[in-house]
Amino acid sequence: MSPVRRCSRTACGRPAVATLTYVYADSTAVLGPLATYAEPHCYDLCAAHSERLTAPRGWEVLRLAPDPTTLGPSSDDLEALADAVREAARPAAPPADGGREPVEVGRRGHLRMLRDPEA
Ligand SMILES: [Zn+2]
Repeated sequence: MSPVRRCSRTACGRPAVATLTYVYADSTAVLGPLATYAEPHCYDLCAAHSERLTAPRGWEVLRLAPDPTTLGPSSDDLEALADAVREAARPAAPPADGGREPVEVGRRGHLRMLRDPEA
């Protein structure tokens, strides 16, 4: 029997649902499913703190597919993100009217990634 894992944030005693790992070599904070066992540089986070996670300046946050038994982003979200990345990788078609409307290069749910055509 293992003790219940708790969020590592100060004054937060909620059960942990995800593990944050700092990959110093890549300046990337990886948020993934709860690790099987605690490791150095790993921090367990509850659902609320996982959602509100922000990377330190100059760092990127990489969110991995969650364990389906825990609450978190659905696989639909991850699929939409993958689609958006694929779309962004394609060359954007030039605007037909030559206007200055931002070119939509990707979409994830209600969020759109926009690229300024003048940039
Ligand atoms: Zn927490």
